Amino acid sequence: MPLYEYRCQDCDHGFELLVRESTTFECPACRGARLEKQLSVFAVGAEGRSGGRAPMAMGGGCGSCGHPGGPGSCSVN
Ligand SMILES: [Zn+2]
Repeated sequence: MPLYEYRCQDCDHGFELLVRESTTFECPACRGARLEKQLSVFAVGAEGRSGGRAPMAMGGGCGSCGHPGGPGSCSVN
């Protein structure tokens, strides 16, 4: 059963509502019917995190380890 987050536009009361066929859409605080459905904070946060830190290359030539033998020498060792 889907659980949605709503906010009452009359008294600004935020609450979660388990939506079923028999669910009455009203504010539990003031019984108002002007409810505003809230967006999932989780989903919005995930979308905004495009281009996170890329994973470091595994193995292969090094080139950035500062090994005195030159780039790639550390993997030979
Ligand atoms: Zn209310």
